[in-house]
Amino acid sequence: MSGDFTTRTPHAACLPAESPPQLLVFIDTEEEFDWQKHFSSDARGVTAMKHQWRAQAVFGRYGVKPVYLVDYPVASQPAGYTPLREFFDDGRCEIGAHLHPWVTPPVEETVNDGNSFACNLPRDLERRKLSILKETIERNLGVAPTVYRAGRYGADAETRTLLEELGFLVDSSVLPWTDLRHMAGPDFRHCSSDPFWFGAGDRVLEIPLTTGFLGLLHRLGEEVFPWIGSPRGVQLRATAICARARLLDRIRLSPEGVTIDEAKRLTRALVHRGEQKVFVVSYHSPSLGVGHTPYVRTRTDLEQFLAWLDAYLEFFMGEIGGRPASTGEIYRAMAAAGGRASLQSAQPLGERRRAAG
Ligand SMILES: [Zn+2]
Repeated sequence: MSGDFTTRTPHAACLPAESPPQLLVFIDTEEEFDWQKHFSSDARGVTAMKHQWRAQAVFGRYGVKPVYLVDYPVASQPAGYTPLREFFDDGRCEIGAHLHPWVTPPVEETVNDGNSFACNLPRDLERRKLSILKETIERNLGVAPTVYRAGRYGADAETRTLLEELGFLVDSSVLPWTDLRHMAGPDFRHCSSDPFWFGAGDRVLEIPLTTGFLGLLHRLGEEVFPWIGSPRGVQLRATAICARARLLDRIRLSPEGVTIDEAKRLTRALVHRGEQKVFVVSYHSPSLGVGHTPYVRTRTDLEQFLAWLDAYLEFFMGEIGGRPASTGEIYRAMAAAGGRASLQSAQPLGERRRAAG
């Protein structure tokens, strides 16, 4: 891996100050695998895809069009892509891409933890996998994806170049305030949730996962967390100790492992901060089936998961005064706000560039 997303001061991407908070829902849409075990190229089941309608029904009540970031097992198997194709053909979602290298051809690498981050692969292999994923999505879902999230957030500076070459316009692989180097992954300790432009001509928009701090020290989070989240801090269990003592807890906006109360408190804190306009709710598609992820082990967990989505959307559109957005709308509005007329006509984004058939 060479470089990370912070090797160059990025150009901030902003919405106009008067813009209400905007909500995106990004779903890592992928095969089921045992989260406790090592990666395997054999785990390709997509049985949870037939249950996605449950969350889609919640989104429909609030006018939210989620972005399904689709990986190869979902894009290549009818049981994976057929339900999404129905949502997409009805104009109820966007389609993006999500790369799990260990199940995406060609699998020429040794499958292990380090190579599960696509940015650790030989660059040509990362390119070929991403190209095959993109072609498979185009063939089976009828759309050229322009939104990307790397599996395990495995994206670095050279991945950015690759995304631009392949025609992607939005990336969401940055996991703010988080150092994954202890697992051979990227270091995002100094990245915030603020969107930014990257690539030659700043044509590609990074929209990080919404991540922030709760706890007594939350105002210090941005200064303190790069240290306590570092390999040394991890070794000392500093993050766990701070979280348990309710001093400082880093959480992401997700129904997976985050209570609705925490999600609301985080959102209020970020709105209060004043700068944050784009909020990204993220989760994994297998959580819609029972027993596939650590977050949904029982039927009751699933009901609570769906209730979380419902409660959060009601809160965001109500108390927060926010609105649902599409990646294309955000892209164009940020280009316009930055005086980037040349980008405003860029073809977005899982909506219009539909291939025939
Ligand atoms: Zn994934």
